[in-house]
Amino acid sequence: ITAKAIHQMERPILPGVKNLIAIASGKGGVGKSTVSVNLAIALAKTGAKVGLIDADIFGPSIPKMFGVEDVKPAGVRVDGKERIQPISKFGVNFLSIGFFVATEDAVIWRGPMASNALKQLITDGNWGTLDYLLFDLPPGTSDIHLTLVQTVPISGAVIVTTPQDVALADVIRGVNMFKGKGVDVPVLGLIENMAWFTPEELPENKYYIFGRDGGLKLAERLELPLLGQIPIVQGIREGGDSGNPVAWDDNSITGKVFAEIASNLI
Ligand code: ADP
Repeated sequence: ITAKAIHQMERPILPGVKNLIAIASGKGGVGKSTVSVNLAIALAKTGAKVGLIDADIFGPSIPKMFGVEDVKPAGVRVDGKERIQPISKFGVNFLSIGFFVATEDAVIWRGPMASNALKQLITDGNWGTLDYLLFDLPPGTSDIHLTLVQTVPISGAVIVTTPQDVALADVIRGVNMFKGKGVDVPVLGLIENMAWFTPEELPENKYYIFGRDGGLKLAERLELPLLGQIPIVQGIREGGDSGNPVAWDDNSITGKVFAEIASNLI
């Protein structure tokens, strides 16, 4: 362990942050980053001060989803220390490893490098005072999860899943991770994403592409709250790809779904 690391350990970490919330998923591709971004914006719209750390070190997608891929965060001196100023957009302050390395390079990082990168985003970010700091974690269980729970006192975890059976099996593993060896993070609830699809021309019909109520039933079985069900909506995908998250749009019906999830979380 280096002197610098010890110095960082002794420093009180994130003293101004009230709630630290990990957003996790059992599998990749279930919409965890999409939910993280939209939930952060929905929380900010309630008047809360919100931060977001893209801890999905191996596939950072937050810069693209916020439409700031070409931005480089600036350094600032705070109380004599060099800090990284988070980017502010849609009412959310955020940092991503994607701002500092090309995504293709991050993919080949070994565990310790990725863990150090996450620690730096936490300790060197100029986070100031926040009501909520969300962490968009990599899918599954990894060193990054351990690093996170060992670096900061996580207040709770939210788990995103699709209703599909194969996704649900991995959710149980994810829930157990937050309750495993020496880790005691309360799971605040599940979010079922891609819960159904409604074609525009048949607005009364719901098609349960990935199965029906899988997240709801699992939440019941695990005695965890279901924080919300999000349908498959083309606008959610488009908003993510174009850097215009639906939660920011006051007129978006889907945006209201995220507002409801935020109010269930608060
Ligand atoms: P993860 O972070 O779990 O890997 P992403 O958030 O990157 O997943 O989402 C995977 C893909 O699915 C993205 O292209 C995203 O735009 C899309 N997506 C996520 N949720 C929805 C949804 N509810 N409706 C439509 N597309 C969605």
